[in-house]
Amino acid sequence: MKKKSSSKDFVWRRKHLLGLKGMSADELIHLFNTAEGFKEISQRSIKKAPALRGKVVGNLFFEDSTRTRTSFALAVSRLSADIVEFTAKASSLSKGETLRDTARNLEAMGIDMVVVRHKAGGAANLLSQCIDACVINAGDGYHEHPTQGLLDIFTIRELRQDIKGLKVAIVGDIAHSRVARSNIWALHTLGAEVFLVGPPTLMPSAVSQLPVTVCHDFDSIIGQMDVLNMLRVQFERIGSPVIPSLLEYSRLFALTEKRMEKAKSDVIVMHPGPMNRGLEIEGTVADGPNSTVLRQVSNGLAVRMAVLFLVNQASKLPADERIDS
Ligand code: ASP
Repeated sequence: MKKKSSSKDFVWRRKHLLGLKGMSADELIHLFNTAEGFKEISQRSIKKAPALRGKVVGNLFFEDSTRTRTSFALAVSRLSADIVEFTAKASSLSKGETLRDTARNLEAMGIDMVVVRHKAGGAANLLSQCIDACVINAGDGYHEHPTQGLLDIFTIRELRQDIKGLKVAIVGDIAHSRVARSNIWALHTLGAEVFLVGPPTLMPSAVSQLPVTVCHDFDSIIGQMDVLNMLRVQFERIGSPVIPSLLEYSRLFALTEKRMEKAKSDVIVMHPGPMNRGLEIEGTVADGPNSTVLRQVSNGLAVRMAVLFLVNQASKLPADERIDS
C-alpha cells in the first residue's frame, strides 16, 4: 500500500465501524488520508473543526479504559459534537439493564453515535442491529479493536510510506488480544507479512485460519522484522494459568535491550498500552529511540476523528447505498 492522496470519487459507505476484517485496501487508505487531514487540525492553535456540530456521541464503556475512552472523548470535542459518558459502574448497567435497553434509552435522548467497549465479542455488532445510531467498536472481548489496529498501521505508514512487503511481528499474548486480530486483518489486506510470536499456550485455537506465520522462537526471527508490536499478557481475560513462569516468559519473549541488538537498527517498536514494563518490554526499550508508543497515542486521536467523521457521513446515505454491517 503506497501512501497516496484519496480519490475524490471515493465514497465511504460504512455506517458502523465494527472490525477491520473485510475492510478493503481502498477503505483503509481513505480512512488514513482522512486522518492525516485531522492530524493537521490538532497542530493548529485552535484545535477545533465544526464537522460534527450538533451531533451527540455516547461513550459506553463496560470495561476499563484509559487511552481509548479519553481519545474518543477528545476526538468528539475536536469535531464540535457533544459527548455523554457512560460507565457500567455508574449507570443502570450495574442494576441489570441489558446493553440493548441502555443503548435504546440513550437513543431516545437523541444520541447519533455510540462508541462501545464490552467484554463480549460481538457486542458492537449486536448493538448495530438494534439501534439506528452509528456504532463504533472500542474493543469487544478477544474479537477486534479496530481503532487500535488503524492507529497502529497509520503510525507504521507515517514512518515507512509503504505497508506492502513489510514484516510485522505481533509478540506475546495473541490468544486474548483483540488488538492482534484487528492488526492481522488490515495488515494482511495491505500486503504486509504478519508473524505471530509467543508460547503455544498464548496462540489462538484457530490460528491456522489466520493469514499469518506462527513462530515460537522470537530470537530466530527478530532480525528480519520491520515492526515489533509487543502485547501485554492480558491476565484479566485469562481464566486458568497459561504460562508456567513470568520469569521464563520474559526470558523468551520480552523485548529487552539485549534482544534489540539482534533487531534491525530502524525497527519500529510498538505497544498498544497499558504496558507492563519489565514483563513484555524493558522500560528503556519502551522509552528508547525506536519506540512509537506515544506517537501511537497521538495518532489515535486523528484516526478516531476520521472514524467519527466518516461513519456520520455514511449515515446520511440512502439505505441501499450504505454498508450497515
Ligand atoms: N488496550 C488494549 C485493549 O483494550 C490492549 C490491552 O489491554 O492490553 O485491548
